[in-house]
Amino acid sequence: MNRPAPESRPRYRGRFAPSPSGPLHLGSLVAALGSWLDARAAGGEWLLRMEDIDPPREQPGAAQDILRTLEAYGLHWDGPVTWQSERSAAYAAALQTLQPLLFWCTCTRAELRAAKGVYPGTCHARRAPPDEKHAAVRLRTPEPLPGFRDRMQGDLTLAAKDTGTDPILRRKDGLWAYQLAVVVDDGAQGITHVVRGNDLLNTTPLQVALQQCLGLPTPDYLHLPVIQDQQGRKLSKQNHAPAIRARDSDRLLRAALLALGLTPPADLLPTELLPWGTEHWVNRQHRLHSVQPSELSGADV
Ligand code: GLU
Ligand code: ZN
Repeated sequence: MNRPAPESRPRYRGRFAPSPSGPLHLGSLVAALGSWLDARAAGGEWLLRMEDIDPPREQPGAAQDILRTLEAYGLHWDGPVTWQSERSAAYAAALQTLQPLLFWCTCTRAELRAAKGVYPGTCHARRAPPDEKHAAVRLRTPEPLPGFRDRMQGDLTLAAKDTGTDPILRRKDGLWAYQLAVVVDDGAQGITHVVRGNDLLNTTPLQVALQQCLGLPTPDYLHLPVIQDQQGRKLSKQNHAPAIRARDSDRLLRAALLALGLTPPADLLPTELLPWGTEHWVNRQHRLHSVQPSELSGADV
């Protein structure tokens, strides 16, 4: 999977990148649908990347379940699925390139807790792996972190306290970290547009910094509103959001369209929902920010 030469870079290549820590729920369906609609409305490609680099957090069967569910909902992807578990060599190569900017961190969770993600600099001087104990590999990030443009929210510069600094690229247990894998793969797959949930907004400055360190282009970003349950909590696997089922696809596709600011006419057939959504996506994007959880109340989420 070589990075395409700039002249062969497509005008639009998007992706959905689920982690197989559980089945899809309505929140992840909204992210999948938003990125699918954005790609299809642009006449672009939509790739599927399974972010299966954290076996301890994976649920057996979840990856296949996610793929089956996406197909049942009509969200077909282009080309073969990329499995991050098969991409170790690319991550190791990227780490090699980043060598001058890396340091080896032996801080414990307890030591870092008070710093709340802003790395206190304790291990900055350790520029090689220690012999005696396991260490995490961290990237020394620039200060301040780069700003970026979100298509809906405009130019953003986030504070270090919101993004954290010096992200882990390889964990103490030897597993690759999300930040490294996501940036290496978005680059290698030639992703031009990232559309994902707003819960990942604060990771974007770290990813842009990493892209700059690796000489990779920064994609166009659109962060979608994250939907909440009746208690105002983000729908997530941690909050035990219910898994979506193939047989509910009509009702839940409608709910996901509503969450994206699109109100499909009541008389549309189930097979007409996605074509209708694709047709109306471009003009309705500006409504994204104004979708209120109450608008979803009829959707029984
Ligand atoms: N795998 C990440 C997740 O499921 C998403 C990565 C991304 O879209 O950048 O939260
Ligand atoms: Zn440290």
